[in-house]
Amino acid sequence: MPDDTPSDQRPITEARLLAMVNASGDSFWEMDVDRRFVHISDNMCRTMGYPREELHGRPVLEFMTPEYRAEIIRLAASRGSANDPLAHAGPIRHEGEFFRKDGSRLWVETVSVPVFDDHGTHLGYFGITRDVTERKRAEQALRDANRQLEEQLRHIQDLHALMREQAIRDELTGVHNRRHFVEVAQRELDRARRHGMTLSLVMLDIDHFKSVNDQHGHHTGDAALQAVGAMLSDTTRAEDLACRLGGEEFAVLLMGMGHDGAMERAETWRSTLAAMHIPTDGTPLRLTASFGVATFPLQADCLVDLMKVADARMYRAKSQGRDRVAGDTLTR
Ligand code: GH3
Ligand code: MG
Ligand code: MG
Repeated sequence: MPDDTPSDQRPITEARLLAMVNASGDSFWEMDVDRRFVHISDNMCRTMGYPREELHGRPVLEFMTPEYRAEIIRLAASRGSANDPLAHAGPIRHEGEFFRKDGSRLWVETVSVPVFDDHGTHLGYFGITRDVTERKRAEQALRDANRQLEEQLRHIQDLHALMREQAIRDELTGVHNRRHFVEVAQRELDRARRHGMTLSLVMLDIDHFKSVNDQHGHHTGDAALQAVGAMLSDTTRAEDLACRLGGEEFAVLLMGMGHDGAMERAETWRSTLAAMHIPTDGTPLRLTASFGVATFPLQADCLVDLMKVADARMYRAKSQGRDRVAGDTLTR
């Protein structure tokens, strides 16, 4: 006789329950106290890729990755023994990876419940397992994409820093370029004016540099400019500013330095340069330079004038024989 009772009023039998779980796509299973499979739903066999007889009676831990196994053992230990009231606590949720029969990995999320008989004896566990491999893959892909994005961002930041640095440096010699020099010098001069401080400018121009190029070639000329740039970088204080104004002309701004101190510094650079040997294909090259020194606010009260005074003194050093420092007085 057909059953006319509406389906939502029929008692829920185990078979109906299993049909529901199966229809949901999730897997249902039961295990004994040693976590051996005693019941495995069709979905469980399908997602694990094993025929039922190859799962039945086998401990579930055998199919887990070492990490998942360690997680289960840790969770079990935190729950206490079967006689412990804690072990009787409600469902427990965990996730990890199984190995399928073909060796591929299956990410699962499981809710399991310990089962006890009427006397409180622990019989085993039952639970529902959901295949979350796709979700985990998507999460991993998202993490990878984020990491890639962060790497790109770091790369762009590095490039930005490099570009900022390149924008203020002279490509050949590594000292600052004229534009940056003028910008910083203007700022420093304004600051010195506000605080009633002094600062000095040393300008230098390599002597007879045209003949260096003519005799040794442009390449050696470049090496000589690099050697001068390196010498200035190595011998200036962190607060000073060395730059290549252009061609074979350099300048150093000496913060807080009065005229006498600046003359001394210029004289040191003059003698260091005159003692340098720049390697060439033949005999090493000797260089000299002529220096002009001007001091704010003693001899000029703005940057344009400070540069004009230093430049005029540098040409005085040239006209009086080169390889010398000209300031308020001439050193040689
Ligand atoms: P003075 O003693 O009067 O300063 O004579 P000088 O020969 O040094 O001066 P001049 O201005 O006649 O020549 C400067 C030379 O510097 C000419 C130019 O070819 C050279 N020069 C400018 N920039 C560079 C560069 O980047 N590399 C090389 N190798 N030479 C350069
Ligand atoms: Mg020159
Ligand atoms: Mg010149």
